[in-house]
Amino acid sequence: MKKATFLASVTILFSISLNAFTLGTLGDFKFEKMNQNVYVMHGPEKEPSKENEGFMNNPAVIESQNGLIVIDPGGNYNVGKKILSEIEKLSKKPIIAVFNTHKHGDHWFANKNIKEKYPDVPIYALTYMIEQVKDNAADTWYGILDRLTGNLKGTKPFTFPNQGIENKQTVVVDGQTFIMRHFAKGHTDTDILIEHTNSNTLFIGDNLIINRFGAFDESSSIVENIKLLEKIKNQEDGFKKYTLYVPGHGPSSGEISKTIDPFLDYMRIVLKGAQKAYEEGMASYEIKPEVDEKLKAYHSWDAYEGQMGKHLMKAYSEVEMLDF
Ligand SMILES: [Zn+2]
Repeated sequence: MKKATFLASVTILFSISLNAFTLGTLGDFKFEKMNQNVYVMHGPEKEPSKENEGFMNNPAVIESQNGLIVIDPGGNYNVGKKILSEIEKLSKKPIIAVFNTHKHGDHWFANKNIKEKYPDVPIYALTYMIEQVKDNAADTWYGILDRLTGNLKGTKPFTFPNQGIENKQTVVVDGQTFIMRHFAKGHTDTDILIEHTNSNTLFIGDNLIINRFGAFDESSSIVENIKLLEKIKNQEDGFKKYTLYVPGHGPSSGEISKTIDPFLDYMRIVLKGAQKAYEEGMASYEIKPEVDEKLKAYHSWDAYEGQMGKHLMKAYSEVEMLDF
């Protein structure tokens, strides 16, 4: 190889590796084409940590004729920079709209990076979600992520969504049609599920999580989350058969058995255990070993140890409430 060519290829290699979004032992992250004009970057299937720098969600990009539409751009200003530069590798088109699926900061704190570059960009979220994050949900999540990752520098002041949307509203952006669905409760009380009709994709947010567990917070309902996934699975309440199902965390797929079923079955087993404990006058921790035995397939999911008992307690309190 001639010296000049060799130097040129070294330079190219070097600049590629410089630009790659690499997270320690977790590997490289980039957007993959999943469906027609839909790209998803599947984040680490882990709880927020120093190692993943607070990146663990699934940012998505829809390419329209004149621009890019981003769903859930990421969890802080620092990973936001890396995600934005990966978006720019997909296309040099401008970002013309953003959607946020719910109030948890690991999905939307990187709105800031997009707003910084595109000051007039509309950022859509459920109107009630915007109220909640402005009230205290943003600060709560800032505290959680800061404590676990130490990587929140530059994230404040927050860039809140600025366009309130409601259940069943249709948003058209540059020929791309998005239908919103909101249910009173599920993963939180601020969720929107987004149907992208052009590609027949359903973005489910954290109502669907695969290969890892997170908390069910005070605004969530395991019972309602189960009902919602059943509606999607059974194509009820306006849901159709989709070509692609995108979870809030974990791999996307067009197959119900790989996407909806695992988390749905998990929650059903937990709820059934809680119901049995309640009916037999047991505390939730007393039924835990029996439930644990039925959940062998989930023992390898991240944070199973820390979360399952809490989920069982939460399900138990919902069963108790429903009885009164
Ligand atoms: Zn969430």
